[in-house]
Amino acid sequence: MSVKYNFCAGPAMLPPPVMAKAQQELLDWNGLGVSVMEISHRSSEFIALAKQAEADLRELMSIPDNYHVLFMHGGGRGQFAAVVNNFLGDKGRALYLVSGQWSKSAMEEARKLAGDCQIDALNIVENINGINTVVMPALKGSGDEYRYLHYCPNETVDGIEIFDEITSPWPIVADLSSTIMSRELDVSRYGLIYAGAQKNIGPSGLAIVIVRKDMLELPQMPQASIMDYRLCAEHDSMFNTPPTFAWYLAAEVFTWLKGIGGVKAMEAINKEKAARLYACIDKLDFYRNGVAVANRSRMNVTFQLADESLDKAFLTEAEAKGLLALKGHRIVGGMRASLYNAMPLDGVDALVTFMEEFAARHA
Ligand SMILES: *Cc1c(COP(=O)(O)O)cnc(C)c1O
Repeated sequence: MSVKYNFCAGPAMLPPPVMAKAQQELLDWNGLGVSVMEISHRSSEFIALAKQAEADLRELMSIPDNYHVLFMHGGGRGQFAAVVNNFLGDKGRALYLVSGQWSKSAMEEARKLAGDCQIDALNIVENINGINTVVMPALKGSGDEYRYLHYCPNETVDGIEIFDEITSPWPIVADLSSTIMSRELDVSRYGLIYAGAQKNIGPSGLAIVIVRKDMLELPQMPQASIMDYRLCAEHDSMFNTPPTFAWYLAAEVFTWLKGIGGVKAMEAINKEKAARLYACIDKLDFYRNGVAVANRSRMNVTFQLADESLDKAFLTEAEAKGLLALKGHRIVGGMRASLYNAMPLDGVDALVTFMEEFAARHA
């Protein structure tokens, strides 16, 4: 098989050494003679894996002791509902910052479930001379006005990232699905962090939740037990059968990330990857990115061809070169190269070489 680089936005590529190890261990994990998929989640072997995974994640993200780490079902969207159901009981109010497709979806899900509670929304992206720019308002008010403020630091579809940590009088709930562990972050600033796994963590279906313990005292709404943070925390994420294979793979990804030097080392590589691709886009009039420089996503680089009629040829020729899944999200069109942690610098270099060559040929 010739080298392929998979730029899919999610489920995304996983680190090749992790995939090779999983393949090797698939039929016989830990010398048990069976797969990790086929053992009880309550077995001592699996519990040891679960504990190690949590310890590694705590180390990678410097998660303080006053936070629970939960391994839950239902991916990112499951958490859109869970935060509402867990925090807005008894007519609570919440504020949603809208910066693109995912934060908008989170806000819409909240409104759908709101019942007697109130969901306010604030659009924070302005189109200034054709360039999408994040304009962060001063977040002021009394601390009990909202139970939480929800935002999405990296908009996977739009290619917009908010790098500055925000300051808010209300606990911050952040959807980190597509940016978790791609750069350093101060967990102690957040009330809750969640991430669907399929971008930077492991297979889809799993969600990681990092929640400050005092947040669990907020009034809940009636909800499915498996989405209840308190039950999940009390039962070490094993109230029901967890997605064990996804958990195992996540654990392997954490080990891999520690091996390359942790989040700090990864951040330096991610900066370099994004810088090389944006430099190519900016250098050639053939391509265009419509996001303000300060808000350009490191994980999801969106770009358009100046001549849209070449989109199809671009994608077909890229694929022939082993550069896969570059088509932009159907809502925004154009192209998108997702450069999650697992994407090596070589993949970006191969893409840049192809883009230069394609532009020269079609100039
Ligand atoms: C992918 C993604 C989601 C949705 O995740 P699912 O697991 O498909 O529900 C939510 N938020 C962001 C920022 C994402 O990138």
